[in-house]
Amino acid sequence: MLRLIQRGMGLKWWRQLWAKSSLRLLPPSYAVPDQKGSYSSHAKKESTSFVTNIFNGHLAPENVFPFPSVLSPEQAQALQAMVDPCTRFFQEVNDPAANEELETIQEETLAGLKDMGCFGLQVPEELGGIGLTNTQYARMVEVVGMHDLGVGIALGAHQSIGFKGILLFGTKSQKEKYLPKLATGEVHAAFCLTEPSSGSDAASIQTTAELSPCERYYTLNGGKIWISNGGTAEIFTVFAKTRVKDVTTGEEKDKISAFIVERAFKGVTSGPPEQKMGIKCSNTAEVHFDGVQVPAENLLGGLGRGFQVAMHILNNGRFGMASALAGTMRGVLRKAVEHAANRRQFGSALSRFGAIQEKLARMAMLLYVTEAMAYVLSANMDMKVPDYRLEAAISKIFASEAAWTVTDEAIQILGGMGYMKETGVEKVLRDLRIFRIFEGTNDILRLFVALGGMKHAGEELQRLQKSLSNPVGKVEALCKEIVMRAKRQEGQPTDSLVYSPSTF
Ligand SMILES: Cc1cc2nc3c(=O)[nH]c(=O)nc-3n(C[C@H](O)[C@H](O)[C@H](O)COP(=O)(O)OP(=O)(O)OC[C@H]3O[C@@H](n4cnc5c(N)ncnc54)[C@H](O)[C@@H]3O)c2cc1C
Repeated sequence: MLRLIQRGMGLKWWRQLWAKSSLRLLPPSYAVPDQKGSYSSHAKKESTSFVTNIFNGHLAPENVFPFPSVLSPEQAQALQAMVDPCTRFFQEVNDPAANEELETIQEETLAGLKDMGCFGLQVPEELGGIGLTNTQYARMVEVVGMHDLGVGIALGAHQSIGFKGILLFGTKSQKEKYLPKLATGEVHAAFCLTEPSSGSDAASIQTTAELSPCERYYTLNGGKIWISNGGTAEIFTVFAKTRVKDVTTGEEKDKISAFIVERAFKGVTSGPPEQKMGIKCSNTAEVHFDGVQVPAENLLGGLGRGFQVAMHILNNGRFGMASALAGTMRGVLRKAVEHAANRRQFGSALSRFGAIQEKLARMAMLLYVTEAMAYVLSANMDMKVPDYRLEAAISKIFASEAAWTVTDEAIQILGGMGYMKETGVEKVLRDLRIFRIFEGTNDILRLFVALGGMKHAGEELQRLQKSLSNPVGKVEALCKEIVMRAKRQEGQPTDSLVYSPSTF
């Protein structure tokens, strides 16, 4: 009986929720931050991140349901007008096999990419770029990922991480000075974090930047390894240790800061291109800084804020990886399907065999999930959802592993043909391997997801624990928590989860 009553209550609450659905179907409120350009304290306290809330057993559907539609008809049309010529360009002009053979991107390809504005896809138009939203950018890189991952890395290292710091944290004058020539592809950018003794443990870098007595420049000393575009870039975002004085205690500590460094500054040198397993046309090289004098105004994002700058750039750039790899999967799945339909063994097309059908179904599932994830994430970013770090990490892990499985299975379906260079799939497999390693290894990102989610859950429990330790002083908070938990048990919406224009 009790269960029936409970079920009845659940239905009643569900009907009430449904009645409010017109509110819930409005575009999420964080599309526009408040007039001060920030989010209210409520948004900070209760994360709206779908994944973060999973760790508390909460359902926070605002960012995923209904599937966010963030492009206006004009934006969608403008995007299609770019996607079509870009697709034709990759089919007709770019030659992935030649790029790989030469271990560089052919001049004709570079010139075409510049003409299409591919070096400044997200740079605002007034600074010489195309000004694409995250969703539009995701769709463009999906085209690149379908045709040539090496070119994708060169473009991504340039704009997804190389100059992203200037876009996100640059001052007006830094943006005006650097972005126009980066957006046109006149000069290329690189992101310099990794060092011989510092990979996953990025906070342990040894490169130093010492402020001059006149305080007009920093002297940069150190070496970075495996830097994408490291041998070709003119502009570098470099992370280095700086001495930072605590304003209250006066104590000095080493903290990481970020700098915009030009190759033109004396003392910047690069090593030869690394010999790699895949993405061979993308340049990877050491970059050395020997007594480089970096003007103080080239400090990026504030003194001692470099670690946050680096992590923010990486979090912000990850969405492109998922969509690029969705494109990669689409390309190899098509080849596998064509082969399965045309190749006959035992008197039948391969596509008639159950084992092959199961493989194709699984490949399609992985592609579908990756693609859905990529565009929910890019849409959330366009909606200005404040916290998407865990979603971004999950999308990178899932996409890089799904693309590996799909490509490996495509080779299996192609049989001996899949192993041959001329089919073009073995190259994709080699190109793909790095995606599980760079921009945060998948192992580290798994830890990041687990620890990030648990931290949030822990903070909420701590709040509750504090209320319990002083129930008299915190009666209101305690009652609120008890009511909220009771509602969650019932599957009812809590105030924090129901969309309301005043929520943020
Ligand atoms: C082709 C290429 C391009 C690159 N481009 C750039 C670039 O443009 N800019 C840049 O700054 N860097 C770049 N990198 C560097 C890349 O980001 C690093 O290789 C990556 O961060 C991993 O660091 P590592 O190789 O030193 O591995 P390590 O940190 O030494 O890790 C080795 C292994 O141990 C695992 N591991 C480490 N710590 C833990 C732990 N606590 N728990 C469990 N497992 C752990 C890792 O997951 C990994 O599997 C590039 C690398 C390559 C190969």
